[in-house]
Amino acid sequence: MSNITRHYAQGKDIVIIIDRNLCKGCDICVQVCTPGTLELVDAPDKWEGSVVQVKDVELCNFCRLCEIQCPDFAIRVVKKAEEEGLTMAKGKKTSAE
Ligand code: SF4
Ligand code: SF4
Repeated sequence: MSNITRHYAQGKDIVIIIDRNLCKGCDICVQVCTPGTLELVDAPDKWEGSVVQVKDVELCNFCRLCEIQCPDFAIRVVKKAEEEGLTMAKGKKTSAE
């Protein structure tokens, strides 16, 4: 079952999409996100014990480093127009359908 959250910035044309099932809490995205948009939180239900979440979507500068660096394709950062119809799939990124 998918477990996808979408975070819409109010002041910018940015949507951050996280697939919690794919995230292994490796912290890479948090480390590369210099504005501090993301954070790791405890997730006892996950094998790894942590998972990423959006701390403040308004801080995002659309650099997309998190998406590029994530080894598990668990996070996407897109424009709102791109976001409609976008799906996340295990092991690969899918473009708009
Ligand atoms: S880099 Fe990917 S797998 Fe690692 S914490 Fe971030 S979203 Fe999760
Ligand atoms: S796109 Fe850049 S600023 Fe936005 S969450 Fe990802 S790493 Fe952070």
